[in-house]
Amino acid sequence: MVFVQCAEPADRRVERSVYALGTRCTVSLFYTAPLPFDPDAVFEAVSDRLQTIEQVMSANRADSQLSAINNAAGKNPVAVAPALFSLIKKSIGFAHKTDSAFNPAIGALVKLWGIGFKNEQLPAADAIQAASALTDWKTVRLNSSDTSVFLPIAGMELDLGGIAKGYAADEIAKILRSMGVERAIINIGGTVIVLGKKNRTQLWKIGIKDPRRHDGGAVLSAALSNAAFVTSGSYERFFEQDGKRYHHILDATTGYPAVSDLVSVTIIGENGADADALATACFVLGKKKSLALLKTLPQINAVFIDAHNTAYITDGLKNRITVLEPPFRIQVLE
Ligand code: AMP
Ligand code: MG
Repeated sequence: MVFVQCAEPADRRVERSVYALGTRCTVSLFYTAPLPFDPDAVFEAVSDRLQTIEQVMSANRADSQLSAINNAAGKNPVAVAPALFSLIKKSIGFAHKTDSAFNPAIGALVKLWGIGFKNEQLPAADAIQAASALTDWKTVRLNSSDTSVFLPIAGMELDLGGIAKGYAADEIAKILRSMGVERAIINIGGTVIVLGKKNRTQLWKIGIKDPRRHDGGAVLSAALSNAAFVTSGSYERFFEQDGKRYHHILDATTGYPAVSDLVSVTIIGENGADADALATACFVLGKKKSLALLKTLPQINAVFIDAHNTAYITDGLKNRITVLEPPFRIQVLE
């Protein structure tokens, strides 16, 4: 479905949504007439790219290249598409940088818990321990000469769920730019890239969801141009058993959902894949360790929300964040 709507005089929008990567992906293109690109061609290219990314990188499709690597664990290396090889390499780089908080070799645990899937359950303690023992990303062997990947222990599994949406948003941004789109919002299930500015005088305003409610509205908004904006939170996907909540961001060192002093982490940067990996990692790391990490990444900004409705923001976001809903309040991080 394509619809055209006037956002402001002479400013127009065409938008399309598709379901891919386990989520709703919406691309909104903005322009002033006459139309400087062919929307049907743009949307077709976007949709094709999303399908390909899913076919290659999904841990939940038996026929993906990622599953081929996982199925060959303990047996043989598997040569994969250079794009998948690069994303695995990047993911392992983030595992290094984040002291294993981001762990792309967490697949065995993700499958065991099944959070967000029909089989979600609190696993037996010995099963958790066994799956945790299969998450050592340092053992993953990458061979760049034939872009092959080898998981040396049977049962090990890669999972790119913590970075793939950001990567997909980057890929779509490239397509849009190459096809003449200057202003757009790409939204892959809450992983957002904005291109350009809203108009000559205004930035885009992107909302940060209410972490207290699964389907909540925005409680803060960020004014942005040409940026990636990615949120990870414990409220996004979870189940409850015996009055306890189990969410989908796991800590491979314990085998359980990460215990964090944060309920939501938003990372704002230039690149979607980086912001996606860092949002997941910072959630696991908690506020103090995340701050130390961000000190080494000056081009990255963040909004950390705790359970007491305080939003801690990095210095670069001063004057860019607006509170939409008290009791949320802002504190600038030193
Ligand atoms: P995100 O929504 O980007 O925070 O990523 C969460 C998804 O990444 C989960 O649904 C899992 O597929 C995977 N995942 C869970 N825990 C981790 C972790 N510690 N490191 C990397 N990926 C993870
Ligand atoms: Mg992530």
